[in-house]
Amino acid sequence: MDKSNINHQHVITTAPTQMPSVINVTTNSPPPVGPKPIDIYCPYCHCRITTRIEHNATTKTHIVAVILGCTICCCCLPYCIDSCRNANHFCPSCGAYIGTYGS
Ligand SMILES: [Zn+2]
Repeated sequence: MDKSNINHQHVITTAPTQMPSVINVTTNSPPPVGPKPIDIYCPYCHCRITTRIEHNATTKTHIVAVILGCTICCCCLPYCIDSCRNANHFCPSCGAYIGTYGS
């Protein structure tokens, strides 16, 4: 009985042992953002910044638009009201996404 079943398993040891550096700041504790620009330290570039806000129309915006359009014919009004839209905060320095204020 000869040992012919020799496993030739070459274990590749070149796999990186370090985890890729993923910034999971937003998953742990999102900064408390509001409908207005806020003064915070950017978690990405660590600069003292005032957030830049971009408003997005949300599902609520469209619903309000439909309701107003059916009642007082002001269907475009919700798109002009900030409280009916999400406020996305961005860092003006590095452009990183900070957080979203949802009304
Ligand atoms: Zn930044």
